[in-house]
Amino acid sequence: MAWFHKNKQPLEPPKEKRVQTEGLWVKCGACRRILWKKDLEANLLCCPRCGHHFKMSARARLEMLFDHGRYVEHDAHLASSDPLQFRDTKSYRDRLRRAEKATGLKDALITGEGLLAGKPAIICAMEFDFIGGSMGAVVGEKIARAIDRCLAQRHPLVIVSCSGGARMMEGAISLMQMAKISAGLARLDEAQRPYISVLSDPTTGGVSASFAMLGDLNIAEPGALIGFAGPRVIEQTIRQKLPEGFQRAEFLLAHGMLDAIVPRKELKAYLARTLNLLGAWDS
Ligand SMILES: [Zn+2]
Repeated sequence: MAWFHKNKQPLEPPKEKRVQTEGLWVKCGACRRILWKKDLEANLLCCPRCGHHFKMSARARLEMLFDHGRYVEHDAHLASSDPLQFRDTKSYRDRLRRAEKATGLKDALITGEGLLAGKPAIICAMEFDFIGGSMGAVVGEKIARAIDRCLAQRHPLVIVSCSGGARMMEGAISLMQMAKISAGLARLDEAQRPYISVLSDPTTGGVSASFAMLGDLNIAEPGALIGFAGPRVIEQTIRQKLPEGFQRAEFLLAHGMLDAIVPRKELKAYLARTLNLLGAWDS
């Protein structure tokens, strides 16, 4: 009986209906809205709805600040020698290799020399995607060399920080960078070369405890997390609840720890104007 007979034909596998959307949309960490990545990029990685500043890569940062996005990179070849042959859950060498593959950089900072609103400047930008933007011997050496170049060529210096602090895989060697850079910045000060520190989200640990807070001007991006130890560690240590907005740029500005909060869109014009005021390009 054909009525009861099921004509069995193999079911066709469903055609792939899913559209590849990965990487096209991003969720804003502040207002939770879903944003089209292209809109976000066109807006310098600031949420078009609420203004939340997303993290910016070191390359994008330098392209944004230098005229026509053009600059000469210095000391790109410097790489860590893994002086302690450190290993935790993974070997440090392995972490370095992965970070290099992910970012195309040999360490967590790029030094660029170029024109800022038509005037020469040296700008260092930190890369958070390289082991949390941590500062080891390479970051320290690159900044020290950037300072030497500023001294030799009488250029002003800008450092854009984005870092969790010193790189624990280099132990005391990474901590020594704090003193080394601070000493260099003191020489820059004696030579009356201006240095502006830009603190982006996050700037913590040994970076905030050294060069990030040593600028002639210390300015931050809106909402940036800035501090030494994290809030949980502090709460556990002092056994007190921390105030609302603690360690955010706005809180620090209100308490005299920062000179200004500058939205990303205004950053380049702000740097050009203030470096001019500080006599960066007076002969
Ligand atoms: Zn938003």
